[in-house]
Amino acid sequence: MRIDKLIANEGYGSRKEVKHLLKSGQVLVNGEAIKQAKMHVDPERDEITVMGQVIDYQEFIYLMMNKPPGVVSATEDHRDETVIDLIDPSFQVKEPFPVGRLDKDTEGLLILTNDGKLAHQLLSPKKNVGKTYFAEIEGVVGKEDIETFNKGVSLDDGYETKPAQLTILTTDATTSAIEVVISEGKYHQVKRMFEAVGKRVTYLKRMKMGSLSLDQQLELGEYRELTKEELDYLK
Ligand code: URA
Repeated sequence: MRIDKLIANEGYGSRKEVKHLLKSGQVLVNGEAIKQAKMHVDPERDEITVMGQVIDYQEFIYLMMNKPPGVVSATEDHRDETVIDLIDPSFQVKEPFPVGRLDKDTEGLLILTNDGKLAHQLLSPKKNVGKTYFAEIEGVVGKEDIETFNKGVSLDDGYETKPAQLTILTTDATTSAIEVVISEGKYHQVKRMFEAVGKRVTYLKRMKMGSLSLDQQLELGEYRELTKEELDYLK
């Protein structure tokens, strides 16, 4: 990749500021001062230093966010704040995107990465990665719903979902709290599955993707990098 892009991605300023760093001989590639912004380097092999600091370049970033309500899971939106707006510019320069969508009012685990291969693996229906949601439901969820979900639910557009595992956590005369695991990501899937059995989701939060759990220490809107161990769960 181009040396100026790499250095800008590492947070050393705008392309213009980076050009200045190059011109002033403060960028060394394998010990040699490099002045041309368009020079290509291989961050895996070349040793790059900027103002005496060695660059430990990481092409891919992997973030776990506790998505807050009211924010859209997209990279850009002309009206609403996006999950990308919530992250630090030093991560934004690496152009991450959300892995799958959560509705604007849904909270919880969202992975942001620029690793297209990993995103594909997590979203591909063939890979069958389970997504676990906690939900509050208007209506009493019963045994018959567990059975219906187990067989697969017929949605409003005629689509038959794959089997989903429904667990009732609490229930009273009018509402229930549940956990559901689905392996697909159809538009508004959990909400539409409950609509199909005559109930309404009033609160939805994603708790897990595969075996990766939302870090309970993260407040709404907070995020952190995945640990190496967590990344291994996903790969
Ligand atoms: N299912 C939904 O209905 N909404 C989400 O945001 C995620 C799953």
